[in-house]
Amino acid sequence: MKSWYRKSKAGPMFRAPLKGDGVEMDDFVEHPAEDRADSPPVKKTADSDPDEPLPVWLMKMTQSAFKDACDHLMPRPPEVAGILLGPVKDDLVVTHFIPDTEGKGSPASFTLNTRTLNRELSKAKSCGLNCKGIVHSHPSGFIVPSSGDLAYLQRLFTSPANSELTQFFMPIVCDGHFYPYVFAMGRIHAADLCLI
Ligand SMILES: [Zn+2]
Repeated sequence: MKSWYRKSKAGPMFRAPLKGDGVEMDDFVEHPAEDRADSPPVKKTADSDPDEPLPVWLMKMTQSAFKDACDHLMPRPPEVAGILLGPVKDDLVVTHFIPDTEGKGSPASFTLNTRTLNRELSKAKSCGLNCKGIVHSHPSGFIVPSSGDLAYLQRLFTSPANSELTQFFMPIVCDGHFYPYVFAMGRIHAADLCLI
């Protein structure tokens, strides 16, 4: 079995399993001060054949996972984060939320605590779950993933270890609302949330 940690000069790296291979995550930092004024565009369309029907981006989430995420993120000042888990066999379904209680948050950024998350993911793997995404809170008014969020996702998808990764959820909690997003086909898409 592969180790959850990969030794490097920077120390162990967070690996979240997806499609049996894994998602590598380094430290999660976003919202540099110069980015705050502009939010990145969010498009529902894809650069595919114009004759093809537009894909409908769906995020299915159990009510318990949704409640757990909202209960953790909404009462706390931003930024706060957690990871979203679901069954290995279904990329679209989130069944569990794990708060990153030891991550470092500021009003403008969040850095995942990789050691704690590795431990949680190790437990999840034994239960047939893997990582479907990350949910985090934003300061008031920033309802879409930031340029820092997008850069992070781009790195995630260009990592050779994640060659089979096709999508990754990145919902944003802001001003008491939950905004579902999914990163796929090289860009972020607003998604429809389906509570199950
Ligand atoms: Zn963000």
